[in-house]
Amino acid sequence: MNNSPKTFGDILTHKELDTNPKRWLSVIEQQTLADVQLALKTEAGKYTFEKLLALISPAAQNYFEQMAQAANLLTIKRFGRTIRLYAPLYLSSFCINSCKYCGFNVTTDFKRTRLTIEEALADADVIAAEGFHDILLVSSEDPKFITVDYLCKLASRLREKFSSISIEIYQLEQADYKRLFDAGIEGVTLYQETYDKNAYAQYHPAGKKSDYASRLRAHDDMCAAGMREIGLGSLLGLTDWRTETLALAQHADYLMKRYWQSRVSFSFPRLRPACAVDRDKFPYLLSDKELVQMMLALRLCFADAGMNISTRESAQLRDRLIYLGVTRMSAGSRTNPGGYSGHDENTKQFEIADTRSPNQVAELIKQKGLEPVWKDWDKSFIK
Ligand code: SF4
Repeated sequence: MNNSPKTFGDILTHKELDTNPKRWLSVIEQQTLADVQLALKTEAGKYTFEKLLALISPAAQNYFEQMAQAANLLTIKRFGRTIRLYAPLYLSSFCINSCKYCGFNVTTDFKRTRLTIEEALADADVIAAEGFHDILLVSSEDPKFITVDYLCKLASRLREKFSSISIEIYQLEQADYKRLFDAGIEGVTLYQETYDKNAYAQYHPAGKKSDYASRLRAHDDMCAAGMREIGLGSLLGLTDWRTETLALAQHADYLMKRYWQSRVSFSFPRLRPACAVDRDKFPYLLSDKELVQMMLALRLCFADAGMNISTRESAQLRDRLIYLGVTRMSAGSRTNPGGYSGHDENTKQFEIADTRSPNQVAELIKQKGLEPVWKDWDKSFIK
């Protein structure tokens, strides 16, 4: 770790990506074909802010073919012809927060569910029987029930069946992340949702999650606690995707330079239809083409970053994305607690779009000439 005094918040503020991200839109729109050509001549996989400005610009849409080929070659070179498969296990739909884009919002009236450790293990058994060794524990902000103790106990039981356990839950303190790491949880994904400070305040009017500055520091805490895999993302649809990509890249660059021991990955969650959420109220929903451009641009700037794509996206789109930089995919997902072991009546956090079974997804990956990897990590590697 270097001793640079700059926090990620300072870096963001220096470029006004938190307070005035829209100032970059005209710069992006003014990028020329020559700027894009120049960006594509630089070393593939190496990040500079100027390069990313060019690759996310409207002008870059004339170079999709070239970008796609370069992204595919770079991904094969760094990750081989493989796609890791994982499954999410939703633990609770109780939440203390008021995120305006989420069906699990505290104000939504629906029958909520929490899984006991035994109930979570019943879901995990189904996931293991499907062939997965990589499991992601997901929960809303339910700190009275989904405690660090709960997660440590669950992880100790899951370790028998899963070689990789990661979490996507509410923000914790560094000491908590350390306890979870010691209990066998090696990865954490936490979305900033949006790096635009004003938009963040609008979408998170109350609850613990409304503290923007605290959330910006979360990934530092995970890395300092020793977490091996760190996931970043913006919820796509809340603000302009191009300025979010700039901030996301700054975040990844900062973490990679400061905490070289942790591997950073990007996720690309687009807003999905959900209970009590009207998607028509979100003016920044991005098209498939824009999503692809965002992924290609980030791949061409970050050769070593993992790139995750979930079942939020349709089978048709996911099949195409396989060649464009993706390294990890979920399959057969249920987004309601207890959904794997038969509680289909429980409310889902959002509707999934790719409803294929894990085996169908694995078969498709093989047909595309890649290898589906159910397990690529074992704790014995570091003993
Ligand atoms: S996004 Fe997460 S924290 Fe916000 S309401 Fe939904 S479950 Fe709760």
